[in-house]
Amino acid sequence: MAKNSSQGWDVPAVEAVRVTPDTRVSGVDTRGTPGFVGDKELGEKLLEERGAYLSSLQEKLYANGRSEHEHRSVLLVLQGMDTAGKGGMVRHVIGHVDPQGVDHASFGVPTAEEKRHHYLWRIRKALPRNGQIGVFDRSHYEDVLVVRVHNLVPPAEWEPRYDEINHFERELVDAGTTLVKVAMFVSLDEQKERLAERLDRPDKHWKYNPGDVTERGYWPKYQEAYQAMLDRTSTDYAPWHVVPCDRKWYSRLAVTELLIDALERLDLDWPPANFDIEVEKARLAQS
Ligand code: ADP
Repeated sequence: MAKNSSQGWDVPAVEAVRVTPDTRVSGVDTRGTPGFVGDKELGEKLLEERGAYLSSLQEKLYANGRSEHEHRSVLLVLQGMDTAGKGGMVRHVIGHVDPQGVDHASFGVPTAEEKRHHYLWRIRKALPRNGQIGVFDRSHYEDVLVVRVHNLVPPAEWEPRYDEINHFERELVDAGTTLVKVAMFVSLDEQKERLAERLDRPDKHWKYNPGDVTERGYWPKYQEAYQAMLDRTSTDYAPWHVVPCDRKWYSRLAVTELLIDALERLDLDWPPANFDIEVEKARLAQS
């Protein structure tokens, strides 16, 4: 179990990918490995080692959730264009931890029932329980991304959502949830290759959606919407991280580090026994 995170990094992941006021979506080097100076081989080795450490931290969070009344949870928010690798992130990063401790939710086109409610209604229902790691594969941010790009509601309706989302996230943080927001970027070329692979391989046809090709034509509008999202909803209490995703091994390692950082900041101890250990030892010996 590798507790030391410095191997391979010259800048900690959490600093290297955190959004700053200067972050430009159009300037993201999607093949880059910010902060990491090792190669793919080291990256893959570290992913396993640090994944094991992540798992031990998650167990502590879970143990505290079982015995503490004060709410503590971590919510990983994954936003990215199709093929950025959201599903792989769940399998290869979250896959390291005990599934019992994970509250996973994905958000597609709203159902008829969801459309009858405020856009945060389905989000609130899916928030992580005490002691859990929540994972959002897409999120409330779709309501300022796809909705804005395609004018699904008029600007007067989506415009106030940035402030509303900040307010909502402030509430979550105040109630004990640590948010880890990750914007995943692949280049148009890399996306084309990944879509081509889906077309070539029968085991990937199920992942192919003709609509994904249509969306490629909206790339500049998506970039604009992502920029506005980062500019307006990266706060000190819930900052965004921009993770280049052309190299999957890097993006998975970087997100593992972001989760480790969030869990370490909770500074959790194992919950104390709520029984008399000596009495129980004696009882067990006599049983
Ligand atoms: P995926 O493509 O991630 O496998 P789905 O096909 O189930 O998942 O749904 C994703 C689609 O749902 C995306 O095209 C996304 O833009 C769309 N979507 C998600 N949230 C909303 C929303 N609030 N309004 C409109 N479309 C949405």
